[in-house]
Amino acid sequence: MRWKEQLLTLTPYQPGKSIEAVKKQYKLDQIVKLASNENPFGCSEQVMTALQSNQTGLAIYPDGYATTLRETLSSFLQVDEEELIFGNGSDNLIQIISRALLHPNASTVMATPSFSQYKHNAVIEGAIIKEVPLINGDHNLEAMLAAIDEQTNVIWLCSPNNPTGTYIPESKLIAFLDKVPSDILVVLDEAYYEYVVADDYYDSVKLASKYENLIVLRTFSKIYGLAALRIGYGVANRSIIKALEPAREPFNVNSLGQLAASAAIKDQNFINICKEKNRQGLEQFYEFCRQYQLDFYPTQTNFILIDCKIDGNQVFQSLLERGYIVRSGKALGFPTAVRITVGSFEQNEGVLKALGEFLAQK
Ligand SMILES: *Cc1c(COP(=O)(O)O)cnc(C)c1O
Repeated sequence: MRWKEQLLTLTPYQPGKSIEAVKKQYKLDQIVKLASNENPFGCSEQVMTALQSNQTGLAIYPDGYATTLRETLSSFLQVDEEELIFGNGSDNLIQIISRALLHPNASTVMATPSFSQYKHNAVIEGAIIKEVPLINGDHNLEAMLAAIDEQTNVIWLCSPNNPTGTYIPESKLIAFLDKVPSDILVVLDEAYYEYVVADDYYDSVKLASKYENLIVLRTFSKIYGLAALRIGYGVANRSIIKALEPAREPFNVNSLGQLAASAAIKDQNFINICKEKNRQGLEQFYEFCRQYQLDFYPTQTNFILIDCKIDGNQVFQSLLERGYIVRSGKALGFPTAVRITVGSFEQNEGVLKALGEFLAQK
């Protein structure tokens, strides 16, 4: 077989360990997974009600236009229906964008460490990849501008950034967007948008209507608690959406996901409660880090990257044996850190107790 050469260098995405696998391996009854930034409070009850009343039937293809979800979301965001594109998770939108714009004669600019899928997809398309190191957890926007060349087709911004949790302030983002040539697509991945509390955060949807080369990506996988159903969306002006649409598979978004997401949007009370509980949960982590004098990045998300100053895999392993699945920073570009999802109050207490015990032994 003559595979694309670059495929041979890639490994499949390594997801956070599954609860069942860990239970079996370590013979534990109770496992708490705080590794994939899922919502510890699940999803809105209204979603469950909507799913139970599902009339469509599984023999029927999903609505390829996601009509109801599109109407609901366009009215919620105050954008036109033609300014939206849906993906099988925002991962799928990253793939669609890469497929539409990247090729061996194109270059693409991204921060590092950041979300792994920008690079992964760029490698598959054979594009020239320009990675710009973060400074103190933040995007180095000046260096990203300087990395642009004649071949640059796509720039990826992750704000708040995974895995650091840090965000780009409004004034810096606007100054950046003003300088990027208008024929280069800027992708602003806002998977954690709903968790943000910073005052100097921007209104990305407004920016997408102002900047004709900006697409905003969001997801129902994080605060909405619907990761299993795979729904992400992009907001951009209609000419971007029109250009991307042929690269989207016709039935990429499943029926149950469409139904669930439509119901989820209507329960903003649930979202506000989760956002509030997340901030309270973060205080538990901040307090712990101060007590143990551990460095961390202040975060606008539902996870925190903590530098334990010990091999991240070792911290990961010790927490695993105590019943907590977290993410080692090693694969995320921070070898002595762990990334922990903010859970419920009790889960946070538990994982911090386990981490405290481990650190005390060191
Ligand atoms: C979780 C995550 C995604 C992927 O979300 P899905 O919609 O589940 O595919 C995209 N970007 C970032 C930064 C994420 O953390």
